[in-house]
Amino acid sequence: MKVTFLGTGTSHGVPVIGCDCEVCQSKDPRNHRTRSSILIEVSNLHLLIDTATEFRLQALRAGITKIDAVLYTHCHADHVFGFDDLRIFSQRTGQAVPFYGNYDTIAEMLQVFSYVFRRTQVGGGKPLVEPIIVDGTFHVGGVTITPIPVYHGNLPIYGYRIGDLAYITDCSRLPQSSLRLLTGLKVLILGVIRYEPHPSHMHVDAALELVARLKPEQTYFTHITHLLDHEEVNSKMPQSVSLAYDGLIITI
Ligand SMILES: [Zn+2]
Ligand SMILES: [Zn+2]
Ligand SMILES: [Zn+2]
Repeated sequence: MKVTFLGTGTSHGVPVIGCDCEVCQSKDPRNHRTRSSILIEVSNLHLLIDTATEFRLQALRAGITKIDAVLYTHCHADHVFGFDDLRIFSQRTGQAVPFYGNYDTIAEMLQVFSYVFRRTQVGGGKPLVEPIIVDGTFHVGGVTITPIPVYHGNLPIYGYRIGDLAYITDCSRLPQSSLRLLTGLKVLILGVIRYEPHPSHMHVDAALELVARLKPEQTYFTHITHLLDHEEVNSKMPQSVSLAYDGLIITI
C-alpha cells in the first residue's frame, strides 16, 4: 500500500493569507501546507480521502491519472471544495466515481453541490459521481474499508481504516467503540492542529496520549496550522511520531 500526502494543512492552509509569522514566511517547503487529503494506492485501486480545496493542484503535483473512489470524512469546505475536479476522471472512463460518507456528509454534499445532481443541459462538464451512504465496513474492489466514527466538536464524522492504516482528521474525541477499531495499526494519520487545546480538533498533548494508548508503529500528524514549525516540532516528537508534509509518500 502506498500513501501520498496530497495536503497536510488546516482549513486556512499555510501560509495563511496576509500572515507574516515565521512559519507562514518560512522557506522550508514542509511548512507550505495545502488543505488535507491523502491518496491511497492499494490492489491497483486509487482511493482518495476527501477532495481538498487545492485538489486540482494536488492531483497535478502527484501525477494522479485515475480515481476509483472517494471517501469523505465530513462536508466542511476544506475537505470537499475540490469535488468538481473529479469530473476529469469520470469523463475519461465514462464511469461514475463513487463517493462514500456517513448520512449527514452525503446529505450535505448533495445540497452544497446541488448543480451536480440536478438534470441540466448535456455538455455542462459536471462530474459523474455516485453518492453512497455507509455505516459500517464496506468494500471497494477487493479492498475492505472500515469507517471510524469520531467527534469533530459535536459533529459526528468519519475516519477510515484500510488494513493497517487509519486516517483520522478533524477529531476532538473518539468513542470507546472506535478505539477498539484502531488496535494493531502500522500507521496512524491523525489531525493535530496546535499545542493549545481546541474545541473541535486535537492538540499535540491529546494526540500523544492517544498514540500512547493505541501504540501504532508510526504516527503522522496532518491538518496542521501555522502555529507548528515543521523542523522545530518534529524534533521534539517521540521517535514513532512525525509531522507529515505535502508530497510525503509512505509505503505500508
Ligand atoms: Zn478540516
Ligand atoms: Zn502565519
Ligand atoms: Zn472540519
